[in-house]
Amino acid sequence: MEAVILNASAKRPSGGSVLNRSRSHWWNTSDSYQPATPLIGHVDVDVCIVGGGINGVSTAYHLKKLDPSVDVALLEAEVVGFGASGRNAGQIIMKFGGTSPERLVGSHGADRGREAWDYVHRGIAFIEDVRDEEGIACDYTNTGTLNVCLRVEGDGRIDEAMRLMERMGQSQYVSYVEREQVEQELGSNQFGAAYHESRGGQFNPLKLVRGLKSAAERRGVWVYENSPVASIDTTGKLITLQTGLGVIRCKRLVLATNAFTHLLPSAKELGLAREQTPLMVKGVITEPLTPQQWEQLGWPRRSGVNIHSDLFYSFAPTADGRMLYVGGYYTSAPWDRNLAPEVDMRLKRAGPDHLAAFFPALSGVEVAQTWGGPISITPDWIPHVGEASDPRILYACGCWGNGMPCGAQNGRTLAELALGMRTENTDVWFVTRKKQKWPSRILAAFLANGVIRKRHVASRRIGGRMNPPLRFPR
Ligand SMILES: Cc1cc2nc3c(=O)[nH]c(=O)nc-3n(C[C@H](O)[C@H](O)[C@H](O)COP(=O)(O)OP(=O)(O)OC[C@H]3O[C@@H](n4cnc5c(N)ncnc54)[C@H](O)[C@@H]3O)c2cc1C
Repeated sequence: MEAVILNASAKRPSGGSVLNRSRSHWWNTSDSYQPATPLIGHVDVDVCIVGGGINGVSTAYHLKKLDPSVDVALLEAEVVGFGASGRNAGQIIMKFGGTSPERLVGSHGADRGREAWDYVHRGIAFIEDVRDEEGIACDYTNTGTLNVCLRVEGDGRIDEAMRLMERMGQSQYVSYVEREQVEQELGSNQFGAAYHESRGGQFNPLKLVRGLKSAAERRGVWVYENSPVASIDTTGKLITLQTGLGVIRCKRLVLATNAFTHLLPSAKELGLAREQTPLMVKGVITEPLTPQQWEQLGWPRRSGVNIHSDLFYSFAPTADGRMLYVGGYYTSAPWDRNLAPEVDMRLKRAGPDHLAAFFPALSGVEVAQTWGGPISITPDWIPHVGEASDPRILYACGCWGNGMPCGAQNGRTLAELALGMRTENTDVWFVTRKKQKWPSRILAAFLANGVIRKRHVASRRIGGRMNPPLRFPR
């Protein structure tokens, strides 16, 4: 394969500067950050990782932990946590891919569902362990998460989810919450019954990925930031990557670029152009709520609340007392190469109304900030982890809106694959299976937008029947 050099304007993931301007709450409230130096000159390593999100930093950390003698470098186009890993809602959620338990068991059966759920459990356990072992202060609290249904849709979906969780061997982690209790806990009459998952909780995702980066560096990983990979040449015995200022050669390459994967140089030649399509997801965060607001609101568990419905909404209390709201209504699949989530003034304006419609105690709440980030969707909404057409190249993409624990575990899997190991991670069905590709990128965006549109219509229908109604902007 010939080396493909991107033109100067494409040296960073598209939309870089705009992504920087619309940094997340985690960025805006984090300590000042000193990025690692860019790659300059010529370096040879055993394994090179591209992408400094949770998948990339976890791979780097695990490689050195499993085999300290292996030479590892990580290249990040901007800075670690620049992508969705530093922009998300800060919930460690016990879920797999873009699928509900209903879809997962319906499409793949309960045994595969159990394997997938166990995989995510291992990801959560890793986050909890590495936080303690490496002293990563990422504000993690094990509140679990509350999965609520909308009252207008009825409690049936929660009953069904509970039944399927039992079939997947998850009963010990989930407990049913009656609708009266939900109403009392959340101070809202919009919800029906719920199930509470005891694993996971709230955390600061940027602190986690930065902490993992530092832990990997302490173990000897070479991290280069502001080092966008502009060409990948696989013709030689070693794979050669070029950044603006440097060249790196490696025996094995790990591409951990999730929603940016189709934008990689040589993505088509590497067979990765149609693996996934990006979705831009938007969120808003309030100013810190007053003690009176929290008292009125209730939320004794302080856990994140995710709506178990075709709507895609989540509400997450933060360590500094704010409410972080991800409004699924504003999700979109970009048609072009631009992954810049513009600051969404519509969501900023409508966010307080949405919040008040769900939680009357939040009436008049002030929104501090809005931002977005790219997640990734595969044709069957199951993450892709494994070997590319060139077996020296490993990759992970398709990490959806709950990809932090799964991505943390993917890092272990990719490290094991890179070291030629066979384990319970490398043998899991979604790693070994033949991955489905989208027929084309345009069709992928068309289909993804179609699904989102269908959900928008459902939002309006459901919103219209709710009292007080959600007022979705046109
Ligand atoms: C608004 C929002 C809310 C979310 N909420 C949650 C949540 O509460 N819980 C949860 O678990 N998940 C959540 N997610 C999803 C989660 O954040 C993602 O699934 C996860 O971060 C994906 O991690 P990643 O490492 O695969 O990708 P990313 O974090 O996107 O990392 C990919 C990296 O690759 C780099 N890159 C791209 N191209 C190149 C190149 N050519 N050269 C070098 N580097 C390159 C990018 O700069 C980027 O840093 C949310 C996402 C969003 C956007």
